[in-house]
Amino acid sequence: MKTRILIIEDEKDIRRFVRMALEDEGHTIIEADNVRRGLIDAASRRPDLVVLDLGLPDADGTDFIRDFRGWSTSPIVVLSARSMEADKVAALDAGADDYLVKPFGVMELLARVRAQLRRHGQAGLSGDACIVFGTITLDLARHMVLRDGETVHLTPIEYRLLAFLATQPDRVITYRQLLNCVWGAAHSEDVHYVRVHMANLRKKIEDQASQPRHLLTEVGVGYRFVG
Ligand code: CA
Repeated sequence: MKTRILIIEDEKDIRRFVRMALEDEGHTIIEADNVRRGLIDAASRRPDLVVLDLGLPDADGTDFIRDFRGWSTSPIVVLSARSMEADKVAALDAGADDYLVKPFGVMELLARVRAQLRRHGQAGLSGDACIVFGTITLDLARHMVLRDGETVHLTPIEYRLLAFLATQPDRVITYRQLLNCVWGAAHSEDVHYVRVHMANLRKKIEDQASQPRHLLTEVGVGYRFVG
């Protein structure tokens, strides 16, 4: 069955650009130009993925995310203007999975959409207790990390940080989400904690901590794990 993608974007040219690119990939496209229409289409057509502009005429794109996340786990890729950094973070905190900053290229769009569809398609299917990337094996059942078969000693915080990111590959995880899930809600403002522990984790996990290949920084937003 064809993948259904809902595009919610009020700028006609961008909507057309996104539609044509995704139709070329064989997807079925549903278009909406405001939040109200987007919610109606989302409820009636049940899209497999949503491409969502944040600046919409009748409401904020983040309002759509809050409503949609109440009943759907389908991935949301947000389109954000460069001037809307805070809105982008709010959208990710609300449950968006990834973002593109306008103007973006077609290859970038398609790569992000493919990654989200792949991730979502796999979610829940594999009961894999191990995640393997590079020379690292993350053994979720035994709470162990191995590099080339040798145990890597992580602190409990480092382990939780790695496990939280690695079980959600290709997804942008905000500082706030990490703080809530790894440290607990009381620490939700301490972005510095995350940076310090991430630096230590990279030294243990990455071949070159200064040029990470798996634990990537999303500037001003958080991190993304790539397997
Ligand atoms: Ca707009």
